[in-house]
This record gives sequence, C-alpha cells and structure tokens, in this order.
Amino acid sequence: TLTTRFAPSPTGYLHVGGARTALYSWLYAKKNGGDFILRIEDTDLERSTQASVDAIMDGMNWLNLDWTHGPYFQTKRFDRYKEVIDQLIETGHAYRCYCTAEEVEAMREEARAKGENERYNGMWRERTDYPADKPYVIRFKNPLEGDVVIKDAVKGEIVIANKELDDLIIARSDGSPTYNLTVVVDDWDMKVSHVVRGDDHVNNTPRQINILNALGAPLPVYAHIPMILGDDGKRLSKRHGAVSVMQYRDDGYLPEALLNYLVRLGWSHGDQEIFSREEMIELFDLTGCNRAPSAFNTEKLIWVNQHYMKTMDAEYVASHLAWHMEDQGISTDNGPALAEIVKVQADRVKTLKEMAQISRYFYQDFTEFDAAAGKKHLRPVAKEPLELVKAKLSALESWQGDAIHEVINATAEELELGMGKVGMPLRVAATGAGNSPSLDITLALMDKDKVLARIDMALA
Ligand code: GLU
Repeated sequence: TLTTRFAPSPTGYLHVGGARTALYSWLYAKKNGGDFILRIEDTDLERSTQASVDAIMDGMNWLNLDWTHGPYFQTKRFDRYKEVIDQLIETGHAYRCYCTAEEVEAMREEARAKGENERYNGMWRERTDYPADKPYVIRFKNPLEGDVVIKDAVKGEIVIANKELDDLIIARSDGSPTYNLTVVVDDWDMKVSHVVRGDDHVNNTPRQINILNALGAPLPVYAHIPMILGDDGKRLSKRHGAVSVMQYRDDGYLPEALLNYLVRLGWSHGDQEIFSREEMIELFDLTGCNRAPSAFNTEKLIWVNQHYMKTMDAEYVASHLAWHMEDQGISTDNGPALAEIVKVQADRVKTLKEMAQISRYFYQDFTEFDAAAGKKHLRPVAKEPLELVKAKLSALESWQGDAIHEVINATAEELELGMGKVGMPLRVAATGAGNSPSLDITLALMDKDKVLARIDMALA
C-alpha cells in the first residue's frame, strides 16, 4: 500500500505550513487508496509538550484530516532505535566517537579558516582504542565517495556529493537517538512509501538516504514542498499575524475554506480555484506542486471563505456559526434557526465571527440603538411613521415577509413618504443597527412581540 505520514514535532500549535504538509500527505494517500500515518516526533523532551500534542490533534480534527494509523510517539520507540543503532555499529556503519567538545570546536575552526563547511573530520572513524569511562556519541559512517541522488517528486533531481556530508551523530552521549536516525527507522518500520514534507528538511534527505542504504531498507519517494512566505516575502511566522490553524477557526473561517486555500497555496490544477474535498482527492498530484515558495494572501482566503459560507449547506455552516455565537456569549435558544441566519447573512460578511457579531439582535435584546443610526433615523423625525407602522404590524395576522413588506409600503403611501423614511427608522428600532438584511426578511425572522416592543423602546 502507498503510505504517507505527517510527522510534527509537538513544540507548538499546528501552523498553516504544517497543516498544508499534512493536507498534501493526506490527499496523496486518499487519492491512491493508501494509508496516512500521524507520527508525533517528541524526542526533544525539553521542547515537547502534551499541550502541543493536543493542539496538533485539535487542528487535524478541525480540518477533518483523519489518519489511518497512529498517533505513534517516538518516545515510545527508544528500544527500537537502540536496536537499529546497535545493528549499524555491528555492520560497521556506525562507530563510537570520543571527541570532546573542544576537539569538535577545533575542527570547526579549522574548516572555517579554510573557508569550508564546518564538519567533523572523521577522527574516530577507524579507531578502536576506546578510553574507559569516557562519554561518547555514536556517529554514522557516511560514505566517502560518490553522490546521493534524490529523485524529488516536486523539485526534480537533486545531487549531493558524499564528500559534502560528514559523519552525523545518530546517538547522543546519553544514548538518545537523534532526529535523522529516528525518522529513518520510523519511515522504514512504518513502510512509508512517500515522504511529503517541507523543504526545510531537504538537507537532511541525503543523510537519511545513506542511513537507509546502510540498513538495506527501501527508499521512499521524497516530495519536498517549498515554504510559505508572508506578504513581505519572508518565511511565514507569527509576526505576519495568525499562523495557528485554530486561530483561523477563532477568526471565523470554515475548515473547508482553509483547506481549499491551502491546497491552492503551492499546488494548481489549471486555473481552477474552488475544490471540494472530493475534487481535491481526485485531482491532487505531486506533479502539480509548485517549485517556488508561495506567499500567504489573506484577501484570497477571505474570498474562498465567502464562497464556502454562501454555497455550502446552510445547516452545516450553521454548525460552525454556533461555535462563534457561543464564543461571543450569544445564546441562540430563543430566536430563529441558525441556518436561517446563514441564509440571510452569508453574502454580507467576510467571516463567521463577523456573522455572529452582526446577528446578535436576533437573539439578544439591546438597551441602546446604534448612536449614529439612531441620530439619523429615529429621533425626532420618525415618531409618526413608527407609530403608524407599529399599528399596522400589530394588526397583521400572518407574520411573514411579504405581508410585512406590504405594511411598510402602505405606511409610506399613507404618509406620503419615501420607503426609506419608514424602513430605516423601523430597521434601527427592530435591530438597533443601521444595517441588516432586507427588512421584511429580518423582521419575519424575529418574534412579532419582540419587534413591537423594540418599536416602543424607540418611541419612548
Ligand atoms: N518532525 C519534523 C518537523 O516537525 C518533520 C520530520 C519529517 O517530516 O521528516 O519538522
């Protein structure tokens, strides 16, 4: 089976770069009927936290990226890493290095003085005169000759000369394995066939290939995805604003919108912009991934979000709006069904957060009218139209949009006023605000008694 994995280090939240890597790995597995593994790379005990593991899973769950295996935790696999390290030593592919910190520093300085890359000089590569009771690390015996060729599914062929690579530490002096070793063992044991990850790892890949070769393990296909940039062309980070996936939920984006935005950020299929989940799975391919970095564009994300708010099933959108209503402390127990709110507000806002903000009056009473709108439309001009429209509304038997519309019309005609001279005061009275969806629909969604009471409040 084709197998991909997402292998985050739990040292923070799930950020948009990680989410995009997860999405591409997930899509590629789904498309090919394969497996998708979640692996938590928590060997950095100082920086890894349970809170971060939870945050990553929350992000994956919110995006609805499900995994077929895992989560695996690297800290649970130390015995296995030890076994592989021993195997590498036994087969002559790794060795003990007793260099002191000072000796390593001296090698670095020597290289720097020659204008070469800092590297370990292989000092203990062939030695066996091990001193007793001295700390040592285990180094991988990197081949001295030849090239490593990465046939990257995104970047094309990358060739690195072995003489550029030094003998990497695979176990620290306390015996704990290092990143390149654990990744290799896991990808091998978990039968990962396609490694899709950020191109910040591309320098590790030749080392990982050499270790896999030393183990006689099959090589996966590598696909390194270029990074995401901020609007200033620098690598996307917190200073560009929100980067945590859950922050996008809090800011009012639908998960489908973020996924659609992320799939296009670094991948294309012709000039198509909108992809349903099913379409993404069907059409995604590594060959469609960009080789150049992509810049994050919030305006475009907003556009995609608006598309999904308007076109997705209103009940579904409402289930996400419900979260925002609660987040903003608006109880929706009394008032219209949230799906009705979605239908009338979706094309008026950028986000669900905003939708919740401007829908408060459907559920909560207010004590003041919007100051500017009240000044313009309520007092003192609106006494007569409000009184008459109230009388007509209270006489209405059917509390429905077209009947309400008729009442507003009739009031305007009777008083020989423009529609706005009736409608605007009524709008401000009923909603407290100067803007709302079309008035007849807005009022029809509200309780008749509530509307009448609010008109009284405006007249008082
Ligand atoms: N744990 C690594 C990271 O968070 C990813 C390793 C990999 O994908 O190979 O950057």
